[in-house]
Amino acid sequence: MSNCLFCRIIAGEIPAAIVFQDDSLVAFKDINPQAPLHLLLVPKTHIATLNDLAPEHDALVGSLFRRAAALAREHGYHERGYRTVFNTHADAGQTVFHVHLHLLAGRGLTWPPG
Ligand code: AMP
Ligand code: ZN
Repeated sequence: MSNCLFCRIIAGEIPAAIVFQDDSLVAFKDINPQAPLHLLLVPKTHIATLNDLAPEHDALVGSLFRRAAALAREHGYHERGYRTVFNTHADAGQTVFHVHLHLLAGRGLTWPPG
């Protein structure tokens, strides 16, 4: 989608600090990090929210989580701990309507979340 911020990052039209990509997903640093490590894992195909996932996306969702775990490990947080979050619609604070998995690590993350 040409007016989608994350589609434009994936297309290379807007710069981002990309740390990993393969055929199905890209991972880049959040521009407004909420923890010492704050990455966004984004499918290369445009899916607006979790509500729009279909069975054909099951492998993709698995890849997002498995890559998040691999990136947490690469950054040394796999045993200390980390959080993975999808925000969906207004009450969760979703601002970019292209599915993205937040990976947060490097500080104590409170629970319940705000
Ligand atoms: P959400 O609120 O779950 O929709 O998360 C959107 C995230 O995208 C926020 O954490 C923003 O800081 C982040 N973000 C917005 N614009 C950019 C950008 N150009 N590059 C990297 N991250 C961004
Ligand atoms: Zn998009």
